[in-house]
Amino acid sequence: MRLPSHKTKIVATIGPASMNRKTIEAMIKAGLSVARINFAHGDLEQHAKTVEMVREISERLNRPVAILGDLPGVKIRVGEIQNGSVTLRRWQTVVLTTRDVVGNEAEIPVEFKDFPRMVSKGDVIYLSDGFIALRVEEIRGQDVVCKVLVGGTLFSHKGINVPKARMAIDAVTDRDLEFIKFAIENGIDAVGISFVGSAYDVLKVRRFVEERKGSLFIIAKIERPDAVKNFDDILCAADGIMIARGDLGVEMPIEKLPVLQKKLIHKANVAGKPVITATQMLESMTEEKLPTRAEVTDVANAILDGTDAVMLSEETAVGKYPVDAVRMMARIAKTTEAYRDSQWSARIIEWKMTRWSERGPKKGTIKDTIARSIIEALTSMDIRYILTPTRTGETARLISRFKPKQWILAFATDEHVARNLMFSYGVYPFVVSETSEEEILRLIRGLGLVKDNDPVLLTKGTPIGKTAGTNTIRIFTV
Ligand code: PGA
Ligand code: MN
Repeated sequence: MRLPSHKTKIVATIGPASMNRKTIEAMIKAGLSVARINFAHGDLEQHAKTVEMVREISERLNRPVAILGDLPGVKIRVGEIQNGSVTLRRWQTVVLTTRDVVGNEAEIPVEFKDFPRMVSKGDVIYLSDGFIALRVEEIRGQDVVCKVLVGGTLFSHKGINVPKARMAIDAVTDRDLEFIKFAIENGIDAVGISFVGSAYDVLKVRRFVEERKGSLFIIAKIERPDAVKNFDDILCAADGIMIARGDLGVEMPIEKLPVLQKKLIHKANVAGKPVITATQMLESMTEEKLPTRAEVTDVANAILDGTDAVMLSEETAVGKYPVDAVRMMARIAKTTEAYRDSQWSARIIEWKMTRWSERGPKKGTIKDTIARSIIEALTSMDIRYILTPTRTGETARLISRFKPKQWILAFATDEHVARNLMFSYGVYPFVVSETSEEEILRLIRGLGLVKDNDPVLLTKGTPIGKTAGTNTIRIFTV
């Protein structure tokens, strides 16, 4: 077998443009790592079909692909507008209402019945990714009377953001819990929680999943100011994070995004948790065959910032060139990764090892120390692969954060554990019946990944049989 030519993971959203066998197969061949199902759109029957298609094709091609179910959360949307769109002009009055109406210049339906209670007079409301701005003048029962500050064309079902609103509502809705049940029942690997405000939201999902004996990797989407404020605790509670630049760029001053992205990525790297950089990465490929220079540079910069994964949304969900978009990301990743300087690992090591907050101990754990020692070993000799048998995936993730040039081949007996490593940079997971050294060597020899005398590095937990975590490194030639 041949390993991919890029180590950055590619998440692509499956939608009408890609919800068919041919496109999914081509996207997997082009380098797709994670198929994202957006529960905000489509119905459960369709989603179940997508899951089944991805599983079938990934098995047939023998390429691991994780499935991420993205929960809609409290994304508030505009309802149906007459003829699909309406133009709002500066200084006009418009009423946002929870009454059951079809939208026009005077009134726009909002699909969220608590909406009038969450806004107050003077709040600024953004529509359509921030392109239209309104100010609340008055609240009258189900109606929120607004003045248009920045006008524009508003289409049906566009998003509504109210950065100032007191989000008294739970980030995880009852509808989300239904989707989580569906995710567990359909063997989905991971869920994304939208509009996380605090670690509580993550723990609520975790408890719900545990009560149902499910196994879901939990990705916290950072897309509102509270999440940035509470980031350390959220990172601690979640399995991974997504920098959801779409909503974040409306809820916060947009010019803060670049530096924030760097900071959040760095913290996630130090914590050894995968981070996805999302939204508008190759936006223009929704319509065009080639991206802009700025987009290509954005993808490359996210990789140089240390992101584990890059994400495609509209590009693959509704775009004209879903396969080309994945292929383009793979090309950018391959070329950019080769440039990553050797100081990279050192910069991560400089940071406090176990904890990413100001609290906590400053010293590393056994696994931390093992991971650091591996990086040291890689600088002093040529190693072909890092082989990591792993029960929870943690060892592989702790090594992955240093972004070594060598592939980390991870071996897990649990298929969710294996597939969830598809979120982590440079890790290629295998599902095995046992994680003994003999079994691992037999497997990689059989796949033609190694030949005689290739030097490899293997991590293990000894004594075998005890539940000791990884505590040993063995370097040897095959
Ligand atoms: P969404 O999340 O696509 O579900 O809104 C990503 C983002 O906001 O960037
Ligand atoms: Mn969002």
